[in-house]
Amino acid sequence: MALTEEQRLRNNARRREKHAQESKEEREERLSKRNARDRARRAEKRRTVEQNEPQEKRPRLTLASFLPTFGDCKVQDTLKKFHMEMSTITVAACSTCQESFPGMVMVPRHGECTRCSRDRGTPKLYSEENNMHPGAIPSQLKV
Ligand SMILES: [Zn+2]
Repeated sequence: MALTEEQRLRNNARRREKHAQESKEEREERLSKRNARDRARRAEKRRTVEQNEPQEKRPRLTLASFLPTFGDCKVQDTLKKFHMEMSTITVAACSTCQESFPGMVMVPRHGECTRCSRDRGTPKLYSEENNMHPGAIPSQLKV
């Protein structure tokens, strides 16, 4: 028999009132009983799912299985390409200006970025000698 909305609200209010009056021990006992009941229900549900679908027949769920596909252009393929591309990117820091970001082009011999390697001035524009280093990164800004 289905309860009407009014009956359901009245029952909820009565239950809330009852719960507000119970002692700490009564509350803990009620919650532990409810947890045990929920646990048993979940275990039963798991058992029925395993009986209906044997382990080997169930498809293995991965993140890619939740992604939509659009005709021939698969989102999974695009994502795979993106991750492959991202794995090739390295983060390097310039020895002169200390600038670093993913994919920064470095001049291999000097360990400098292209801007610093082209700078012929003494001291170099963004160097420590030119007082261009802000110092250590504050802990609040560190990743
Ligand atoms: Zn540099």
